[in-house]
Amino acid sequence: MPRYPVRAATPGTISRRDFTAGPMTRPARSAKARPPPWTPVTRGHRNNSDMKTIRSNSLRSVQRKDTSVHAGLHLVIAGAGGNIGSHLVPLLARQPGVARLTLVDFDRYEAKNLCSQDIEPADLSQPKAEVQARRARRINPKLEVRPILDRLENVPLGRLRGDVLLGCLDSKASRRFANEIAWRLGMKFIDAGVEASALLARVNTYVPAEDQPCYECAWDERDYAETGTRHPCDLAVPKTPPTNAPACLGALAAALQAIECEKLLRSGVAATAGEQVLIEAATHHHYLTRFSRNPKCRFDHATWAITALRETPRDLTIDDAFSLVPAGKQTATASLGFGGRSLVQRLNCPGCGFSRRVFKLRERLIVRERSCPKCQRELLAAGFYVSRRLIRSELAPDAAARTLASLGLCAGDVISVSDGVTEKFFELGAQSCRGNTAGLSRQLRRSAGALKRVQPFRRRTL
Ligand SMILES: [Zn+2]
Ligand SMILES: [Zn+2]
Repeated sequence: MPRYPVRAATPGTISRRDFTAGPMTRPARSAKARPPPWTPVTRGHRNNSDMKTIRSNSLRSVQRKDTSVHAGLHLVIAGAGGNIGSHLVPLLARQPGVARLTLVDFDRYEAKNLCSQDIEPADLSQPKAEVQARRARRINPKLEVRPILDRLENVPLGRLRGDVLLGCLDSKASRRFANEIAWRLGMKFIDAGVEASALLARVNTYVPAEDQPCYECAWDERDYAETGTRHPCDLAVPKTPPTNAPACLGALAAALQAIECEKLLRSGVAATAGEQVLIEAATHHHYLTRFSRNPKCRFDHATWAITALRETPRDLTIDDAFSLVPAGKQTATASLGFGGRSLVQRLNCPGCGFSRRVFKLRERLIVRERSCPKCQRELLAAGFYVSRRLIRSELAPDAAARTLASLGLCAGDVISVSDGVTEKFFELGAQSCRGNTAGLSRQLRRSAGALKRVQPFRRRTL
């Protein structure tokens, strides 16, 4: 019988335990008299006494649940229209305690999606996020639903802020990016995936906290090689091959994901934090794997303390941004970051040698800017002209006067200013305080108190 390939335990990962839920006289999980045969294999692994704790938490959660219903949670679904996401959205729309859904999907429905995704022929050629948003509103008219028709990588960080990020993505690279978003914003991350050939459906829960594992903690060199090294010159987004998973498998993964979300809503805590629940439908096996923080993980596990600004990207110049940190303008090592995005300063054509000066974030280059006007080939960015930070001492005077909007920054994007010792993070505002008066000098702004109108971001925690 083919089994799911069990990878050798990476550092910090324990071996998995499984129990059969197939030919039994009673369902394995409902047998209260006989708890599942979990045995502690390492410190912190769930055992029978922990099960009691979980049940008592559930009782307490009844009271908390009322609070949740009143407050309402904001769930962000990445890949909301796909094989898993199209089944997940209706489930979440029906969950009490959910007040707001943000649905992210850049794609449109095609005829081939009819057999694998929860859609109808009338939905074809329409944007996936909009179709699912309309559906969620029909199920629960009180729900606040916001579709975002863009790739997750392009969406400003501030627009993804919520309580829980649910990943219904189809590539490791996208999940890695979702993992980064969740940690930066301090959101719980419930990631689901399927594997069609072995009828596998799995869900992982991650909670950004000290000693908690992240999605990348279980990665080894093979995983990094699999995602591919993206060279700085690659501007186009790589295409992901379809998973070809049947609709029933996507629905199974979505149900697992909704169940973990429901448990979060009930108890306010992630009962399966750092764990993976995997169902091998082909053989009726059910696995529970706990992951630990990998000290060799390449991800820095940092959650950013982000201050929300009222100023829009059109209000602030690069010079203004440096002055957000008092010492930012003075020190030679002061630098400006763009929330992990890269700034491109020159593009070259690999065909005819055409060269174009730009000064814009890589993700925000439009097609016209990325195309050669002579031979229409895709322009490439040489590594020397791609940078993640602008160093104050290397900045040309004319560049310092450019607005952040001219760099492609949008409302909700996060910038960071470092004085060489500490780094501070700021989210750009959506509504201008002074209309479009982008040309105001910094002194005038200061006298108007514009830069002082900084409000600390209030984050609701579960
Ligand atoms: Zn990690
Ligand atoms: Zn060319």
